[in-house]
Amino acid sequence: DKPNCKVVLANNIAKGLLEEVHEGLKKINRKPLLVGFLSSADPAARVYAEWTGKTCNENGFAFELREVDRDALEDALIDANNDASVDGIIVYYPIFNNRQDQYLQQIVSIDKDVEGLSHQYIFNMYQNVRFLDPASTKKSILPCTPLAVIKILEYLRIYNTILPYGNRLHGRTITVINRSEVVGRPLAALLANDGACVYSVDVNDVQQFHRGEGLRKRRHEVEEKPGWTLENALPLSDVVISGVPGDKYKVPLHLLRPGAVCINFSSERNFSPEVKEKASIYVPAIGKVTIVVLLRNLLRIVQNKLEAEAQ
Ligand code: NAD
Repeated sequence: DKPNCKVVLANNIAKGLLEEVHEGLKKINRKPLLVGFLSSADPAARVYAEWTGKTCNENGFAFELREVDRDALEDALIDANNDASVDGIIVYYPIFNNRQDQYLQQIVSIDKDVEGLSHQYIFNMYQNVRFLDPASTKKSILPCTPLAVIKILEYLRIYNTILPYGNRLHGRTITVINRSEVVGRPLAALLANDGACVYSVDVNDVQQFHRGEGLRKRRHEVEEKPGWTLENALPLSDVVISGVPGDKYKVPLHLLRPGAVCINFSSERNFSPEVKEKASIYVPAIGKVTIVVLLRNLLRIVQNKLEAEAQ
């Protein structure tokens, strides 16, 4: 007899989100233009660029790939910022693979930053500020991969819609294995801001992100958990989200709570196939959702622009 684990594929989750994007597109009555900048020799960057183009073209968005020498990228970005026909800008990293990449990230105009990597957006995310204006008409933009994980958790009903918006993870315990600045740490913060108790695990230590008993705090705070490892965090967790790079790493399945929900965002499989013996739900990859979230961010940026023009 087979174990009762439901494997949920990113494609199915992406479909529902795409419908939402199509609805929004119909209302704005124009074809948003996304410009991608490829200055990286990384073959993964090219694949991602081609994949973005394909998803754009299939879904009513225009996409233009600009391949520029990395030393000309700064000026090319400034040109795109000043070009009113460009709605969104995406840059494929790594380029210099050092702090110059962060510098370039901040060149992209906040009004065109579909990846949600501008300092203002990241600041709003950590501070749990959800809108860009005092009247709360323009939503802030969230970084694509962490937001894709959130959309997956909504799809899986880990977000409890009985609870008010902003508190819908109250009572959930979630482990995130990865604390990078692009995915793991923002993801832990977002989940904790929405009410979860989050164990953020990296190669060195474990930290707990939470809004306190009864969610009394307005935004999450972080507590170090000295001496803690996955041995402490995993048995407590309803949901385990893993994003360790490389093909060596495997989540120790014997520590999983029976019936845990397991999600992998690493490009390698962090869960061995036996995860299905123990998990209730397993999501093996998330990339297809991430690309749709990118389109959703582009749509939101165009909506915010139209909102500003109407005022
Ligand atoms: P990174 O190298 O910046 O960070 C890796 C993180 O994993 C660090 O926090 C590190 O401490 C932690 N880690 C490494 N080994 C560990 C171990 N043995 N135990 C616990 N933690 C450990 O990488 P990144 O940019 O965050 O990317 C991670 C993975 O996610 C890559 O495979 C990348 O391709 C993938 N990714 C996927 C998407 C997507 O949409 N699917 C988007 C971005 C990144």
